[in-house]
Amino acid sequence: MIPSDGTAELTRLRLNDKTAAHAAGERYFVTVSTSRPGSTPPGKPSNPPAASTMNTTTGSSTDSTAFTDLALIPPILEALRADGYERPTPIQAQSIPPALAKRDVLGIAQTGTGKTAAFALPIIQRLVTELRPGMKLPVGRKPKALVLAPTRELAAQIAESFASYGRHTPVRFAVIFGGVGQGPQVRAIQQGIDILVATPGRLIDLLQQRLVSLDEISFFVLDEADRMLDMGFIEPIRRISALLPRQRQTMLYSATMPKEIRHLADNLLRDPVTVTVTPVSSAVDRIDQKLFFVLKAQKTQLMIHLFHTLEMERVVIFTKTKHGADRLTRKLKAAGIGSEAIHGNKAQNQRVRALDAFRSGRSPVLVATDVAARGLDIDDVTHVINYDLPMEPEAATSRSDSC
Ligand code: AMP
Repeated sequence: MIPSDGTAELTRLRLNDKTAAHAAGERYFVTVSTSRPGSTPPGKPSNPPAASTMNTTTGSSTDSTAFTDLALIPPILEALRADGYERPTPIQAQSIPPALAKRDVLGIAQTGTGKTAAFALPIIQRLVTELRPGMKLPVGRKPKALVLAPTRELAAQIAESFASYGRHTPVRFAVIFGGVGQGPQVRAIQQGIDILVATPGRLIDLLQQRLVSLDEISFFVLDEADRMLDMGFIEPIRRISALLPRQRQTMLYSATMPKEIRHLADNLLRDPVTVTVTPVSSAVDRIDQKLFFVLKAQKTQLMIHLFHTLEMERVVIFTKTKHGADRLTRKLKAAGIGSEAIHGNKAQNQRVRALDAFRSGRSPVLVATDVAARGLDIDDVTHVINYDLPMEPEAATSRSDSC
């Protein structure tokens, strides 16, 4: 039975304690993470990013740095001001100057640190000032910048950032990913673009059909490189990078640096500036975490119970399988709790609709498989639930941290 007073907590678990996590056993394991009041993730406009520790080959502390100190051009500064960005985050303050000075950058940072602007702003600026000067850009021009991201959602998010930061410049972009028809994406590319944001699979498809050219790429960004590795994209990345001009600027971002990523970085980057950003307090310190032991058959009932007793306003539930996500969503809906699922079997428009419903608050629950939810940046999530035991403890904390 589930206690009715909401105190089903049997133990508090530090999620980086492998022994405890494994001892808990997968089948009876549910964790719930709640942000502590005042612990808004770094980088939200409403709440300026918290200080982070930083090791770089250049530069030092960043707290007093302003965007105007970074030699950014007025149209970019104007967009940032309108977006409510007051100060650069540490990764931005440390990587924008070397990137503007044409250096390669190795950024060790996760989603939520502001890393998208850290690579997007220098690319937009260098395009406008050096590579595409003038307000009238030729129709049919080939892309100068390529950004690779592991998932469709992340690619779309990055493209939105380019759209926003570059809205007062003539720079144009296209975003391409699988799961939707290629026609509109190809047409967008053929009209002429400066920046191409892509997932590796669709890019290779279009390259094979000779519908996109990488001959003029001067900037190459590899985002979430460790996720790329997890998702089996290292070989496609090698194929793509072999097609890029040698004369280019490369920026690689990864939350972790396993051996394979280190090798990849060694191959792709030339004398990079390394910027490492680690939050002052770990997810474990800033987030309340609870572990519940229940029979497998009672997990859904526990979800419903927690939803009501813990006043979950906006909750992401991670499941291990796509079917598990669908099953849970159906049961929650049947219990009158608005829920949407996102996973790899959903068509792109279904995923967009589900995310919109969640972001707008129409649906308070988003059920997601890990892969589908990687790198998503969603504001104001009050609870994160690991419905199944994550295989790596770090996966659980980064899920809680990045939502
Ligand atoms: P990212 O790590 O690039 O996914 O960014 C995380 C969030 O921080 C996004 O919602 C950005 O819009 C926001 N953000 C990025 N840079 C800043 C900044 N300097 N000030 C405030 N918010 C920011």
